[in-house]
Amino acid sequence: MSRINIKRAIVLLVSGKAEPLTHTEEKGWQVRSPSVVFDVPKQIRLTFPGNERLWNVPPVNRREVLRRDRYTCQYCGSTKNLTLDHVIPRSKGGKHSWDNVVTACERCNSRKGDRTPVQAGMPLRTQPKAPMHPVVTFAEQFWREQQQENLE
Ligand SMILES: [Zn+2]
Repeated sequence: MSRINIKRAIVLLVSGKAEPLTHTEEKGWQVRSPSVVFDVPKQIRLTFPGNERLWNVPPVNRREVLRRDRYTCQYCGSTKNLTLDHVIPRSKGGKHSWDNVVTACERCNSRKGDRTPVQAGMPLRTQPKAPMHPVVTFAEQFWREQQQENLE
């Protein structure tokens, strides 16, 4: 048995990677939001032994990058003529990785050319990073709402 924090527990429960241990007498916690009441038991059991393998970060390709960036140019917000741009150009040692590849429209891509966003004076709208498991995204959102509610 190991201890994990309540946030991790919620992630595991909503993703089906863990289930409550129902035969324990101990009462758990109840987290509430206006729409959801979530019972977090004090003990949960992992239903998959090596659960990390269930989610692999998708490959860095056009389809996945456009999806992450919601089919929007990360420089101007355009949704037309989309291409992939290396934030740090490959000629300057930029990698073909999730944190260095963004969606850019043809116009921004050619305007930026072989420069970094700073050199080109073209700031990114969001900092690129690898996509998260959809369930983790959901749980993080849920958790943020909880914390906001507790502050009110
Ligand atoms: Zn653009």
